[in-house]
Amino acid sequence: MIVKKRSKPIRLLTNEALLRRIPPDFPTRSEIEADFKKRKAGYRGEQALDYHLSMLDDRNYIILQDLRLPIYNTFFQIDTLILTPHYALVIEVKNMAGTLLFDTKFNQLIRIYRDKQEGFTDPITQVKLQAQHLAKFLEPFHYTLPIKTLVVISNPSTIIKAEDEEAARTIQNQVIHAYRLPTHIQELPTPSSKPHLDSKALKKLVKLFAKFHSTPHFDMKEAYQVHPSDIKDGVQCPNCHHIPMKRVSTKWSCPMCMETTKTAHIQAIFDYFLLCSPYITTRAAANFLQVTSVHLAYRLLSNMNLKFKGKTKARLYHSPFLD
Ligand SMILES: [Zn+2]
Repeated sequence: MIVKKRSKPIRLLTNEALLRRIPPDFPTRSEIEADFKKRKAGYRGEQALDYHLSMLDDRNYIILQDLRLPIYNTFFQIDTLILTPHYALVIEVKNMAGTLLFDTKFNQLIRIYRDKQEGFTDPITQVKLQAQHLAKFLEPFHYTLPIKTLVVISNPSTIIKAEDEEAARTIQNQVIHAYRLPTHIQELPTPSSKPHLDSKALKKLVKLFAKFHSTPHFDMKEAYQVHPSDIKDGVQCPNCHHIPMKRVSTKWSCPMCMETTKTAHIQAIFDYFLLCSPYITTRAAANFLQVTSVHLAYRLLSNMNLKFKGKTKARLYHSPFLD
């Protein structure tokens, strides 16, 4: 059973919105594009994993995705956490093409791709560290559930290698391809015949995670030196990507390709939430959509079913990306 579902990460959504709305020659654009590609591949890997997880028997496993929990004065993140009455399993997904050589002596991951070698942080060490953080997080609540770890390679054509036989034996149960996941989990030995948690305790644990989980805040000014004044406002044409479209009677019309649409303002408002502020007023919406009529902005916003506070004119609509 999936109790906390994965959604497209804010950082990825923000990257997409930024690429729509900053000039083509923006100084950090290539950095944003590279970051976007990396995060998109990561998200695709997680989605591939979710497909394989859906093959598991719902009654026996509780799946939590994208957890971010506090530890010391910071946070740690877990891509996928599986809870059973016997153990918890922390999964780290990697979506990397080519050959992956797990160097167990120096704890590094070497990727060989298109005749190029590249070094990465060892995901086995990474996921073990997450498990340690999880144990530390659970300590004050007196949970002593055994915590297992697993690295999952989402791309079926990626080759997993170790430097020798001995290393291969060490990693074979720690790194697997995503398609092997359901079988691997079903075959995992339970540390003791007596379950550590009954169904009531499991439910309590899920509630605990929900209580402490928080969505990351992303500061684009700090990450990419983007200032709100760098953001182009206006409705974007879904066909040729031109900004702005013009409001003609009840539709948005593109002056470049003549496309017309009734819904293109929705993405513009979402972009505002991601790039400008988690709240929007009718006046700010009118400015951002480049329409003169505040009444029109009011009508468009109220039709989006957003949460809001306040009465008509002073109404503050809330970003759906807020917790
Ligand atoms: Zn167009």
